[in-house]
Amino acid sequence: MKSRARTLARERLRVIAIIAVAFLPLVLIETAIIGQQAQAGRESIAAGRLALVRSAAGAADGFVAGNLATLHALTQTRSIRAADVDTVNAILRPIIQNDSNWLTIGLSGADGWNLSSLTTAAHSVNIADRDYFQAAIGGMDGVGSVLATRGTLNAKTIVLAVPVAFDNGTKGVLSGALSLANIERQLNDVVPGSTIDLRVIDRLGHQFIGPGSSADTLPDQNALPEVRQGLAGVSNTILSSDSGRDNLIAFAPATRARWVIVLTEPTSSAFALPDGLTRAAVLLTLIGILAALGIAWYLGGRLARSYVQLEAARNETESERFRLYEALRHAPARVGMLLGPDLRFAIVSPLQLSEMGLTEKDVIGKRFADIDPDPSHRAVLEQVFRTGDSHTAREAPTRTRLSTGATIDGYFNSTIVATRDASGAIDGVIYFAADVTDLVLGRKRVEDLATTIAGERDELQHIVNELPEGVVVMRLDGPVIRNRVADELLGRPFTGDFEAAHTDYRPRRPDGRPYETRDFPINRALAGESVRGEEMLFHNPTRDEDLNILVSAAPVRRDGEIVAGVSVFQDITELRAFERQRTEFFSMASHEIRTPVTAILLQLDLALKQISRGDSSNTEEMLRKAKQRTKALTALINDLLDVSRLDVGKFALELEDLDLAEVVRRTVEDYPADDNHPIRIIRGGASLPIQGDARRIVEVIENLLNNAVKYSPQGGAVTVEVGRERESAVFRVRDEGLGVPEAERGQIFERFFRTSVAKAYGGVGLGLYISKEIVNRMGGEIGLESSDAKGSVFRVSLPLQPAPVAVSK
Ligand code: ADP
Repeated sequence: MKSRARTLARERLRVIAIIAVAFLPLVLIETAIIGQQAQAGRESIAAGRLALVRSAAGAADGFVAGNLATLHALTQTRSIRAADVDTVNAILRPIIQNDSNWLTIGLSGADGWNLSSLTTAAHSVNIADRDYFQAAIGGMDGVGSVLATRGTLNAKTIVLAVPVAFDNGTKGVLSGALSLANIERQLNDVVPGSTIDLRVIDRLGHQFIGPGSSADTLPDQNALPEVRQGLAGVSNTILSSDSGRDNLIAFAPATRARWVIVLTEPTSSAFALPDGLTRAAVLLTLIGILAALGIAWYLGGRLARSYVQLEAARNETESERFRLYEALRHAPARVGMLLGPDLRFAIVSPLQLSEMGLTEKDVIGKRFADIDPDPSHRAVLEQVFRTGDSHTAREAPTRTRLSTGATIDGYFNSTIVATRDASGAIDGVIYFAADVTDLVLGRKRVEDLATTIAGERDELQHIVNELPEGVVVMRLDGPVIRNRVADELLGRPFTGDFEAAHTDYRPRRPDGRPYETRDFPINRALAGESVRGEEMLFHNPTRDEDLNILVSAAPVRRDGEIVAGVSVFQDITELRAFERQRTEFFSMASHEIRTPVTAILLQLDLALKQISRGDSSNTEEMLRKAKQRTKALTALINDLLDVSRLDVGKFALELEDLDLAEVVRRTVEDYPADDNHPIRIIRGGASLPIQGDARRIVEVIENLLNNAVKYSPQGGAVTVEVGRERESAVFRVRDEGLGVPEAERGQIFERFFRTSVAKAYGGVGLGLYISKEIVNRMGGEIGLESSDAKGSVFRVSLPLQPAPVAVSK
């Protein structure tokens, strides 16, 4: 666990280091760019501040220069040059009154005493010691900053002095004090920000204007480098630290005013913008670096985990190998590991040792050949060692020699594989041989038994196949036995799959109720029930028809236990169909007989009543009708008699030579005229000699005519054609009736069959059956030649008699 954590940390560090090395140059470049940009920002701000102080200095100088010019102009006035004291004040007064800057202007003599002044009495003030006076008396403009505290004056002033040349040849000085209240205010307006200090330092290094300087304190600023440099005429910006605060200082000299203008601003406010941007950039860079490190930490963790898993897998393999070794040693089989080309035992399973009556000491380190002298065994091992191909044998008969010298025989499943050293070279073999003797002998017994049983089953199958009924035997433990008849009846071999049986055979009861799986007779038999003669309806999927099947089933028991169910079944479809026809026939026949008998009795009754009344007006008509009905009845009875004659084989024909054309013509002519159904005959000319029973042929023709008339609507024409076709004498009866449905055409010559569309008409379905029997017995054929909804054509052909051979004389 501990080493896992260490590996994890190490791998993480490795990935972080990679990321750091990749990122470092980027970070450095980024930092340099940010630094440069910040520096440029700061420089431009400093330059702005310098321009500000320079313009303030310029303004101060302009102010001084302008007022010096005023004084110079005054020195040229006659009153001043004449030192006319009375008029001097008169000149000066309006100037002071008009220009609020001027506090006072006075004219001094060469000795420094004032000659004339608006604020003081003449000769009351001497300014000989003032440097501005000295300068002016020396012929130059003098400028001095003065804190005037005299009289009404208590103000910061700038004093200007200019030389005066009096007309009398002496020198004097015209000087005046300018109030700086306005300038101070203006300067303050220039720098409205509270964080910026604007100071004016006078030529003596005193802070003359600015925060902290009042009318009576003039702090000495001489020690400050900006003051010294400014007084020396230099303008610049510098950064300085003052009581733990970094300041940007811009300063510029106002040469004429003999001032230094100093602007001091804490760098935190001056450089707020570039520093803010720098900080933001640095912050973003830092976030980027942190994110990268975070990703590195995560990826490193993942990498490390897979590394650790790899490690764990390696350990697992190691212990697996150990377990394998243990398994080999304790396997319930003959297992051994042989090393080296001479195959020396390194491992041998205890089972093998005990089987051979040896101990590990006897075997380990010994050559295989010394322990097992069988050369074939050794050959296989050597081959595996040589080729590296594994060898497997299944159920190989093996003879084992014991240490006692005795041998035992058995069957073994064995596998021999080559082992390889780390370089992949074969260094030995492992064999594994499991004793499967019991298994093999057991299976052999079962196989023998199976062969015997199979023989018996074949015999059973043979017997079952011979049975005329369908047989299915379903054993609880085995396959379904069934015979050919069963397969034929069911259309598809029944496999015992009832699910499929339901869809394939759709088993139902005669009343249509379906069978559940458990209701199948064979299943009931398996449940112990005996099923006797149960009728089922089955669909035969191959023939696609429904069959009536009679099924019986019974359980087969052995030692009281049910082991199988047997089901025997037969097809009773035809039987059922015949029964249906017979039932239909009886109801039909009874109706066909009862109807004419009732009618005949009625006619006779009426006739008798009339005769007894002495009235015989239509008695004859009644008797005629009765006779007609009687004839029809006789015909029906004759038909029935014919059928039973045919059934018992007593239907005889009286053959004679005939002309079929003649017989047909006469029959059609004799056929009772019916206005509703005109009958036409078309003759093929020549006579048609045949051998036949004339009475029966007439019966056939009449039968066909009856049907043509009966199954046609009123006005339907009936046409009879007679003629020769190759070796046959043929006649056709054509009608315009309702036709025979296609599906039923094959059945109309069957006994009692009537088409579905003809059920509304009287009839018993015997005429065509008997006609066919008659024609067939005379060697001819009868058939429905064509039929559709517009009518039918029945064709009868009989063999022509060969023409008599002409005898030459
Ligand atoms: P029956 O006419 O007494 O029913 P048949 O044996 O003469 O018996 O005829 C069998 C069936 O064949 C008839 O019921 C009828 O359905 C059909 N059939 C016979 N002749 C015709 C026909 N000309 N047109 C249509 N159907 C016919």
